[in-house]
Amino acid sequence: MSLLEVDRINTLYGDSHILFDVSLRVEENEVVALLGRNGAGKTTTLLTLMGVLAPASGEIRLRGKPIQGMAPARIAGLGVQLVPEERAVFGGLTVEENLRVAALTAKDAWSLDKIYDVFPRLRERRKSSGRTLSGGEQQMLSIARALIRDARIILLDEPFEGLAPLIVRDLVDVTRRLVAEKRTVVIVEQNVAAALSFSDRVYGLNNGHVVYEGTPADLSGNTTLMHELLGVH
Ligand code: ATP
Repeated sequence: MSLLEVDRINTLYGDSHILFDVSLRVEENEVVALLGRNGAGKTTTLLTLMGVLAPASGEIRLRGKPIQGMAPARIAGLGVQLVPEERAVFGGLTVEENLRVAALTAKDAWSLDKIYDVFPRLRERRKSSGRTLSGGEQQMLSIARALIRDARIILLDEPFEGLAPLIVRDLVDVTRRLVAEKRTVVIVEQNVAAALSFSDRVYGLNNGHVVYEGTPADLSGNTTLMHELLGVH
């Protein structure tokens, strides 16, 4: 049994059929990348995993138990957290307040000290308000807000979007720290090279269909797939 199993889900927005029999699996402590062109259905997959969207059919199992159709808060209570593309940071609150708010309703919240040990940069910035943080720091805080709630599975939606290469490198380090903390990561990214650099396995989505499953090494060596699937030359 895998930690997370997605079994032939179909998700629709009204009449628009977006995901077609999407199946994937995620093992404990793995980093799984979900790649594909714009509009392929990557965000829709994460939203369906999180319970924001209910699949019309198919099953999602967490540790063998079906979770599809459950409310997002309930799925969050089972240890799944989504870090959305738009970064979940309150601009008017300090870094520390942002972390405290996130920890409020968590069953087994981490201490601030423990979080700051994983994110030393946030310790330095703890008195700064969210809106004064750089894009990379906001992304870091957004991820830290998931971790302080003791999330076991962290869903990252395009964490590197709009960030300079040096900052992307910092965030790749952050993701590695999540793995060291025994977390499991599902990442959606347009920055294919960065995503492939630290993923254990990769799924390719195209027009709502899973068209590839394999290792980063296999995908990197497959120029046709890289080009057709991801638009990478
Ligand atoms: P992107 O990188 O652009 O976010 P993606 O692979 O994450 O790409 P999705 O956001 O999952 O793609 O979108 C998949 C399809 O669903 C697209 O055709 C999109 O137009 C459509 N879609 C997304 N959100 C909605 C919505 N709220 N209502 C209707 N259709 C939507």
